[in-house]
Amino acid sequence: MSRKKIIAGNWKMNMTPTEAVELVNTLKPLVANDEVDVIFCVPAIDIIPAMEAAKGSNINIGAENMYYEDKGAYTGEISPAMLKDAGVKYVVIGHSERREYFAESDETVNKKVLKAFEYGITPIVCCGESLTQREQGITLDWIRQQIKIAFLNVTADQAKEAVIAYEPIWAIGTGKVATTEQAQEVCSAIRVCIGEIYDEATAAAIRIQYGGSVSAASAPELFAQPDIDGGLVGGASLKPEFGSIVNYNK
Ligand code: PEP
Repeated sequence: MSRKKIIAGNWKMNMTPTEAVELVNTLKPLVANDEVDVIFCVPAIDIIPAMEAAKGSNINIGAENMYYEDKGAYTGEISPAMLKDAGVKYVVIGHSERREYFAESDETVNKKVLKAFEYGITPIVCCGESLTQREQGITLDWIRQQIKIAFLNVTADQAKEAVIAYEPIWAIGTGKVATTEQAQEVCSAIRVCIGEIYDEATAAAIRIQYGGSVSAASAPELFAQPDIDGGLVGGASLKPEFGSIVNYNK
């Protein structure tokens, strides 16, 4: 089955609304590539101005997080209805920085994934092991556990639309990219796990990204792996280099 590649930028807590517009305008011509879904996941306050700036281009503006309740007394949170109303189609869920600094757990990730689907927003579900876990040889067990909990009560039809981002924590923002073999091994194990939870068709349909210090130099080999359907890109998504990553196949 041929899956369309999906390459998403994760801006993290960078870019004021003014800077966001400038960056979208700079990257717009550089990320044109019809063969790839291109997503810029941006801070909540940047979503609307970035969308305005991206109009008429192939850039989809996504969110970096959302809460799992519909609305109410949750000061500072952003709801799925707010994202949907703004026209957001993708949201990053369970990034390791959210897990580390904001106490997100596999259970809250699952609640957010279910809520995103309820609102027709595609979750980019993050998973990944620490360096200690890799050294202990428990990477695959850990990732399988994260995936099983994240997808609890998610239907096969929903899972087919989901995106999973495999991001080894030791590779995020460190300049230490996983080898293609390491990345492919885990992405393949994730696909097998999805096949066990659901069926072959769901495993074949779901898109799995690699994330962790992806650069213009590493992207072509990573994205050529059979189970890697694109990337979630942090640092390099803020630079013109992102254009070369999106056009890894040119
Ligand atoms: C990320 O933020 O998801 C990420 C992978 O960051 P970086 O590309 O900077 O390692």
